[in-house]
Amino acid sequence: RKMGLNEIRDSYLKYFESKGHYKLASAPVVPKNDKSLLLINAGMAPLKPYFTGLAVPPSKRVASCQKCVRTGDIDSVGLTSRHCTFFEMLGNFSFGDYFKEEIIPWAWEYITKVLEIPKEKLYVTIYLEDDEAHDIWVNKTDVSPDRIFRLGKKDNFWEHGVGPCGPCTEIHFDVGAGEIKTSEEFERASDEDKIIEFWNLVFTQFNKDEDGSYSNLENPNIDTGMGLERIAMIMQGANSVFEVDTIKNILDPICKKANVEYGKDEKSDISLRIITDHLRSMTIMICDEVLPSNEGRGYVLRRILRRAARHGRLLNIEGTFLSELCSIVIKQFTDIYPELVKKEAYIKKVIKLEEERFDETIDSGIEILEGYITQVKESGKDTLSGESAFKLYDTYGFPVELTIEICEEKGIKVDKEAFKCEMQKQRERARAARGEDTYMGAEIKAVDSLENSIFTDFLGYEEITAEGEV
Ligand code: ATP
Ligand code: MG
Ligand code: MG
Ligand code: MG
Repeated sequence: RKMGLNEIRDSYLKYFESKGHYKLASAPVVPKNDKSLLLINAGMAPLKPYFTGLAVPPSKRVASCQKCVRTGDIDSVGLTSRHCTFFEMLGNFSFGDYFKEEIIPWAWEYITKVLEIPKEKLYVTIYLEDDEAHDIWVNKTDVSPDRIFRLGKKDNFWEHGVGPCGPCTEIHFDVGAGEIKTSEEFERASDEDKIIEFWNLVFTQFNKDEDGSYSNLENPNIDTGMGLERIAMIMQGANSVFEVDTIKNILDPICKKANVEYGKDEKSDISLRIITDHLRSMTIMICDEVLPSNEGRGYVLRRILRRAARHGRLLNIEGTFLSELCSIVIKQFTDIYPELVKKEAYIKKVIKLEEERFDETIDSGIEILEGYITQVKESGKDTLSGESAFKLYDTYGFPVELTIEICEEKGIKVDKEAFKCEMQKQRERARAARGEDTYMGAEIKAVDSLENSIFTDFLGYEEITAEGEV
């Protein structure tokens, strides 16, 4: 049955309410009191204090639909059918209450009886050593045992920086893999986007401490996460998350703006999907109080916004266009996230300002970069210098990742280390230029600490995302 994305969200939350769960509203995407994470990237992330016992949950059983941002997936967006930087994660959680025995049959009942997904289309994966999960799947559901595959730590053991972790079981949908007999075949089909993972059931039985060691949690927990866009894609028989009802509603006006038809040319389709996704991300992030800047999550936002603007250029869209389209994004979320509607004017203004700032320099920046690339190629080299990348950053506002992306499209690398050196050098130059001037003392201090935070947070950003993104 073809269900809309909003209908699926309701149906999921209702199902778990009927199993005694308390319905919790989404937390903002900016984490509270959690330095290990730049942005909320899973339903469990804002619930960590409940898992660790630092706070008391409203109920031992909770279900939510959580706004998530995974910038670690940014390079997959537009290329795979299933990745977004912003997505909604449906989740049900047990804080030391029910465990594997309950959740596995419930999950199976929900997808095969409520959503009526044919079980011949489903696959299950479990952690290599998790015989307990295996036996529950075989004995308490009607999944065919030859559709269960055992995978290693990379896929079926879940950890998220420090904090609660454990083995997991995942549910997948076949979108054209043919017959699968081995774990290797299964993994290959997944990589090729022919099998879509959509629900991860995590059996949180350990805690990972700051020093990297594991200890048993007193009461094991359940933490599940199902991508709403992915389950909607499956229910709607769509080719990708971008063809799901509420997301297609955003993609269509972008096509109109660019005067192209979706599905005619792969290159422009990729740009259309990237803009669609990034528009959703920036709208949500700004609503949750992120502002474009050169540090931390502000840098993530700036990077996403400028990348979308650049793909607009690739589609020959002239001038600024993101702020007007963000109204369409907000419209899709009116009922579930009313805060977006309240802040609509503000969000539009923030996007508009950042877009205009980039718009003034993007064309000349691209031209300069293309000149650099030609020079690199003509001199028989394969790497753009750190100085050049820095000049684009400093003068034209190109996030270094954007420079890297454009270079990669032309088969050129970027000297990232040298780029970082340039950042450092500029900081030292600025400090030296100020000398011992005491007259401007107060102002100098302010400038210095600002630059300091740009630099350290820029490096810190990479560390945090490498750590925190799963
Ligand atoms: P994948 O292997 O496809 O990248 P994942 O294993 O990284 O997914 P999990 O960390 O297990 O994903 O998150 C739980 C669920 O959240 C996934 O099963 C999927 O439905 C959804 N999800 C994860 N990442 C994304 C994303 N980038 N865009 C949309 N949905 C996502
Ligand atoms: Mg996975
Ligand atoms: Mg997973
Ligand atoms: Mg992933």
